[in-house]
Amino acid sequence: MNSTWARPLLDRCRLRSDFLADVLTPAGRAVSIQWSAGLRDGARDAVAGADIRRRVIHLHPSLKQRAAEYRRILTHEMFHFVWVRLGNPKRAAWKDLLRAELAANARGELGWSSAWRKAELPARFDEYTCEAFCDTAAWVFAGGASEEYTLGPKWRERRRAWMLRMAPYHY
Ligand SMILES: [Zn+2]
Repeated sequence: MNSTWARPLLDRCRLRSDFLADVLTPAGRAVSIQWSAGLRDGARDAVAGADIRRRVIHLHPSLKQRAAEYRRILTHEMFHFVWVRLGNPKRAAWKDLLRAELAANARGELGWSSAWRKAELPARFDEYTCEAFCDTAAWVFAGGASEEYTLGPKWRERRRAWMLRMAPYHY
C-alpha cells in the first residue's frame, strides 16, 4: 500500500475518525507511506520510521491489524516532518518545557521512543526532545489509550496546552 495525505488535516489541529480519508487526499506536498518490515530504532526493533529527505514514512505491516496503534504511530512519524519545519524559536521553547519537567523530576513519557532516550539522558538530549515532541503530538492528536502513556497528568496537560498553542503545524 502506498498512500499520501496533506496539510488540511493538521491545519485543523486534530485528527478525527475520518482520519484515513484525509490521509488519502492528495494535495500540497505529499508524504508517502510505505509498509516495511525489519525496521530499526538504533539497536532496537521498530514499528515505524520517517525518511525526512525522501518524504517517506515506513510502517510495519503488523500495524494493519491495529487501527488505534496505526493512528498513534503514524501521527508520531508525521510530526517528525513537523519538527524539522518548526523553526528554532519553537524548538527552543519545547526544549525549555522539557528541561523544566526534568528539573522537577517528572517521571514517565508519552511513548517508548522518548522513554528509552529519557533513560539515557543527558547523552541523548537532542534526540529525546525530538522524540518527546512526536510522542506528545501522537498523544494529543491521535487520541486513544496506550500503555506507553506514563507521564503524569499534570505534565501531560502542560504539554497538551503547549501543542495546541503552537498550532497550526506544517510539514
Ligand atoms: Zn520518532
